[in-house]
Amino acid sequence: MVILTIRKRTAGLGLVFILALMVLGISSYTMAKHPNMDNWKKERILIDKVETDKNVVALTFDDGPHPQFTPALLDVLKKHDARATFFVMGNKAEAHPRILKRMAAEGHEIGNHSYSHPDFNKLKKEAQLEEINKTTAIIKKHSGQNVALLRPPGGYLSYDLIEMSKKQNLIIAYWTYQQDSKDWRNGTKPSTISGHIIKNIQPGQVIIMHDGCPNGMATVQAVDTILTHLQKEGYTFVTMSELIKIGK
Ligand SMILES: [Zn+2]
Repeated sequence: MVILTIRKRTAGLGLVFILALMVLGISSYTMAKHPNMDNWKKERILIDKVETDKNVVALTFDDGPHPQFTPALLDVLKKHDARATFFVMGNKAEAHPRILKRMAAEGHEIGNHSYSHPDFNKLKKEAQLEEINKTTAIIKKHSGQNVALLRPPGGYLSYDLIEMSKKQNLIIAYWTYQQDSKDWRNGTKPSTISGHIIKNIQPGQVIIMHDGCPNGMATVQAVDTILTHLQKEGYTFVTMSELIKIGK
């Protein structure tokens, strides 16, 4: 009788332990990667890199425009005659329409990074769609560009988001895993950012950086080094939509 009780208790604890492990495992998995991500890549509704033997890559910049960092970055890109893609936030774009106009005039692509960068996990489908559509309209109004790319905040993915993106003719613009230098982290030095990117460079990559974060000036300096170094190695820098076409 006593033995039986102990066994029951042990079994119960074991079950709780296993359940806890499962919950932890599932939550860390979805944070890192959506279980259907590989299928969306195959469908090409989600792009994180392309296959090409040409030395061509796409530089992408998130969370701007920023009134100081973004114009400084545009100067650097102009100096090297390089094209890039800016995943702007709608509310910042509204505040700095002239920066959007300049991006478009200088041959850069503007993508959608939501209106206010909320946690999409906490938003209903309708609210997510509003964040997206509002931003698409702002980009069109200030740059004249038809938005083709959506980079969801924090890389959020769901079946609903993919359905909405298909309906809006938006491709989910992910980034190449090896090329996330975490440049946005405060205090990350320009040499650390450029070193990471130069070391990991491969044709067809989508490189993620941030012009809209407080560490943005380090990113701008890093881009100058990256372009100087990689253009000497024969690399060309195109917009993400151009890269996707090259990869087909
Ligand atoms: Zn972001």
